[in-house]
Amino acid sequence: MKISLLDLTEQYKQLEQEILPAVTEVLASGRYIMGENVRRFEEEAARYLGAEHAVAVANGTDALFLILRALGIGPGDEVITTPFTFFASAETISLCGAKPVFVDLRPDTMNIDEEQVEAAITPRTKAILPVHIFGQPCAMDKLQNIADKHQLILLEDACQAIGSSYLGKMTGTLAKAAAFSFFPTKNLGCCGDGGMITTDDEQLAHRLRLLRLHGSKQKYIHSLVGQNSRLDELQAAILRIKLRHLDKWNQKRRELAARYNQAFADLPLTLPLEFTGTHVYHLYVLRSPHRDEICAYLEDKGIATGHYYPVPLHLQEVYRDLGYREGSLPVAEKACKTAFAIPLYPEMTKQTQDCVIQAVRGFYE
Ligand SMILES: *Cc1c(COP(=O)(O)O)cnc(C)c1O
Repeated sequence: MKISLLDLTEQYKQLEQEILPAVTEVLASGRYIMGENVRRFEEEAARYLGAEHAVAVANGTDALFLILRALGIGPGDEVITTPFTFFASAETISLCGAKPVFVDLRPDTMNIDEEQVEAAITPRTKAILPVHIFGQPCAMDKLQNIADKHQLILLEDACQAIGSSYLGKMTGTLAKAAAFSFFPTKNLGCCGDGGMITTDDEQLAHRLRLLRLHGSKQKYIHSLVGQNSRLDELQAAILRIKLRHLDKWNQKRRELAARYNQAFADLPLTLPLEFTGTHVYHLYVLRSPHRDEICAYLEDKGIATGHYYPVPLHLQEVYRDLGYREGSLPVAEKACKTAFAIPLYPEMTKQTQDCVIQAVRGFYE
């Protein structure tokens, strides 16, 4: 039997009866861009998260880029972020002409270490962009204190963490603005590319709406140089359906994670720690110095594993000129050598999970 990291076909099978009529309706409507589904998805997502404004965009990378652009971050500016994330978190900082400054991780959660952020602040620092890695919120209260003290803008890369919360507030409402991705494998994924920005700042929301649509509020009248970054009606219709299932799916992820934790408690593995708030387990990530042997063993038994992330961003070739070396950010570098994801998705049955548990235990027997 092959067990994959997640199974999107199983999710589609369960939702087919809901999705097909919604998709057919959009197809028959002739309205494919900026229609009723996008408008209503934005309302429903904002209400779900408790955010004042939700602005749907083409993907999570654009969500990050548009936030930075809308805030006027550019050449000469620095943005503090984590080296242990998907490339887009730093890529978008570079794309707007600013410089990413990487801060090492907390060893327990693998999120940015708030204790080390202050030392990385310079007169050029404009913003802090923490990433809620694998679905676990960062220590946003502590980061907000630092941001306030130094008059910096605090942001959120919430692409992996939709539905999680911290100190009773949903991720996406914990900073000036947040970026979400609806890439198919995310906890809330569409059937293509999609993304969203949330903010409580009305002026910022207005600027984001202009920027995503060629700087235009009224057709063919342009007040800004914007870009084309729209969510389409088909994706919005699908997301409206899936949003209604999200809490149930995240709860299922949490139950499966708790079951893994219990099953592995006596093994020499570093389990994902739930720090505070709710972790929504976008990925279930273990750590072991024998990572490569374990993964080879599991793959041999037909069980998929994933290396998140094989190379920390500060050691990527593209960032060679930033001056980081091997050893600059030791916790992140160690995480890249020891972390691995095993299958976890809401539709996973206990029997399937038991196969994974047995195989992991088998490695140690
Ligand atoms: C997926 C992801 C992104 C990018 O989202 P896309 O929709 O693929 O552009 C950015 N940051 C993080 C942390 C992600 O996981």
